[in-house]
Amino acid sequence: EEYTYDVVVVGAGGAGFSAAIEAAEQGYSVTIIEKMPVTGGNTLISGGEMNAPGNWVQEKLGIDGDSTDIYYEDTMEGGNNEGNPELVRLMADSALASAEWLKDEVNVEFLDDQLFQFGGHSFQRALIPVGHTGQELIDKMEAKAAELGIDIYTETEAQSLLTTDEAVSGVVATNHDQEVTFNAAQGVILTTGGFGSNVEMRTEANEEYDDRYGTTNSPGATGDGIIMAQEVGATVDNLEHIQTYPVSNPKTGEISLLADSRFDGATLINQEGERFVEELERRDVISKAIIDQTGGYAYQVWDQTLGEETGTLEAHQRELEQLQEQDLIYVADTLEEGAEYWDIPVEQFMETIEKINAYAESGEDPDFNHRKGLASIKDAPFYFQKAAPSVHHTMGGLVINEHAEVLNESGEPIKNLYAAGELTGVIQGANRLGGNAITDIITFGRIAGKRIGHH
Ligand code: ADP
Repeated sequence: EEYTYDVVVVGAGGAGFSAAIEAAEQGYSVTIIEKMPVTGGNTLISGGEMNAPGNWVQEKLGIDGDSTDIYYEDTMEGGNNEGNPELVRLMADSALASAEWLKDEVNVEFLDDQLFQFGGHSFQRALIPVGHTGQELIDKMEAKAAELGIDIYTETEAQSLLTTDEAVSGVVATNHDQEVTFNAAQGVILTTGGFGSNVEMRTEANEEYDDRYGTTNSPGATGDGIIMAQEVGATVDNLEHIQTYPVSNPKTGEISLLADSRFDGATLINQEGERFVEELERRDVISKAIIDQTGGYAYQVWDQTLGEETGTLEAHQRELEQLQEQDLIYVADTLEEGAEYWDIPVEQFMETIEKINAYAESGEDPDFNHRKGLASIKDAPFYFQKAAPSVHHTMGGLVINEHAEVLNESGEPIKNLYAAGELTGVIQGANRLGGNAITDIITFGRIAGKRIGHH
């Protein structure tokens, strides 16, 4: 089989939809090919939160003082200053416009009275989509794509790129072992996501991340776009930087969104009943701290009031039930009972709780300097969730420029080849801060979709 479009987008996650929508808005015929039976990728299963300094919810909540400069600094520092400064600046400067585009053009609904402050950020600046997951983003982008007449082929896996006279001119894909050729008159946009689900590629990049680690990723995140682009001369960077998500399911590797109450002051406690890290530290720092505790896990502990106030109990009720079935969370009527259930020494644990409640009251945390302020743990029932780190995000990948053009080893664009999203490797540096993936993928997805056809 053979099809011809102006633009072929590979991968139906957040970056792919953003790119496809913008390319279609230019008047081009556009298709997205997706290897899984369903669209959405990691974007779908993520929390979907998006950093945007100066956003309308900050304004409504009276959060003053945030700026694109501070966001830029947080992101650069969060990535150990290994991100490309021009591209991080571009992401920071575009963040609010990207969020407004989702809200106004794609009709994504964000909560209007709540924000998250992820680890490493100086402000509460992450917008939260209704439902607290990426489902809202994907649903609305898919609806917009349908409205624009974008064709989506699922169970269609890109295998390699076609080139004509040194310009990328299409994609060879397979659908149930059948070869399908997609010609692309204006070019190809690669948005296949990272490689967190590809253990071999992971270990080759950094031997630490072998199969001892689970992954929070969708099974489609196997680095295909990085490999296909390298075959036509693309260069890569930062592949060794692989991020674990600290609070994941120790049995399945899945991310815990139920535990998002951490961003509003829930506490991490070890087997000895003590705190051991600032709960709003960077993901790499918390992950390493957890791995260093007895058993390589921790307990996140919070109370009913925090679960209700943050909306996490309601939004992630299914996860709560699953964790109960897997014996990974215990909902206790008293704090002592919860500690006993997990064999945590009760006396030490109660001492820790007393301190937490005092710190929650004073707003100061002399032990670990919690930057937002701890929440008190007072109102039954109490949640004791067992958690461990899991491979979550691959920072490295293709080198792109400010037009989302894929660069070769001499730093020149490969003609008619674009990339955006987790498969690019120059924005998040050594470590991506929470809420920055959505800002990155929407911003650079849009840039790719607007740039294609103009060079
Ligand atoms: P991003 O956050 O960068 O948008 P996602 O993980 O959300 O990345 O989306 C990437 C999508 O690309 C996933 O749905 C994944 O299944 C898809 N994908 C990965 N490799 C291929 C491939 N070879 N052909 C088609 N789709 C692919």
